[in-house]
Amino acid sequence: MGITGRYAPSPTGTLHVGNLRTAVLAELRARQRGGVLRLRIDDLDPVTSSDEHLDRQLADLEAVGVTFDGEPVRQTDRFVRYRNAIEELDSAGLVYPCFCSRREIREAASAPHVHLPDGAYPGTCADLGSTERDRRAESRPAALRVRAGGEEVQFADRAAGETTGWIDDFVIRRNDGIPAYNLATVVDDADMGVTEVVRGADLLSTTPRQVWLLRRLGFPPVEWCHVPLMVNESGQRLAKRDGAVTRADLTSLGVSDAELRARLLASVGLAEGEPFDPATLGTDPTTWSLRGQTPT
Ligand code: GLU
Repeated sequence: MGITGRYAPSPTGTLHVGNLRTAVLAELRARQRGGVLRLRIDDLDPVTSSDEHLDRQLADLEAVGVTFDGEPVRQTDRFVRYRNAIEELDSAGLVYPCFCSRREIREAASAPHVHLPDGAYPGTCADLGSTERDRRAESRPAALRVRAGGEEVQFADRAAGETTGWIDDFVIRRNDGIPAYNLATVVDDADMGVTEVVRGADLLSTTPRQVWLLRRLGFPPVEWCHVPLMVNESGQRLAKRDGAVTRADLTSLGVSDAELRARLLASVGLAEGEPFDPATLGTDPTTWSLRGQTPT
């Protein structure tokens, strides 16, 4: 089977140079091995997603040389498919409803006898009897969680190396009925025939959950490659206040699209046409100068 990569933007804002670089690397990785690159639109969040954002993102991607093959896949078109996947997990006895609020989870997880990684679900609703479930359902719609708690998952990442993650009973459907990102992304990648996922290192911590889901749903393994983030001079996520961090910002400073692409490549030590080997990336984030001119 050939290589199929993908880039999966959330159309909730403007892509910054870090996002653009990830997309450029995803394309290089796919095309250098004779593969294709698909576009998936992660528009599950109805409040913040918009077609205006999407159009601008696609124009920015094209300007730095990222183009896609085949039809784009939109997550909002795929709710039936997500429901089927949830039913499949449910019939395997791997799903339970959870009525906890954020506050209840925080309190239960910080109880004196409980020792869990930050934000992990302590399993409060895992074994509720049916009477208790019915009672709680009267006051609050349920989210759905998988019974995965305590499992350790290992996978090889092309950039970050051998990775191990401990997972909790994570949410696969939110209590407003919207499928959770982890569930949707795994089902989509499998249905799109994706063989390699190149994306930002901010998603590395969620990957063990996705590996777990992928195995439980019987999907073929994929190659993971979490590329370093682009950060500001204080080492934080890039934001508007950090200066020229979007293509529009750079265009207004006279930086051409070709120059922008060259700078994105140079920031990982590459020149146009050079082979890209993710193993050389390491995991350290790249600093994008506040003046927006030079990645160092
Ligand atoms: N839509 C996600 C984001 O923009 C990326 C999801 C993924 O690559 O799996 O952060």
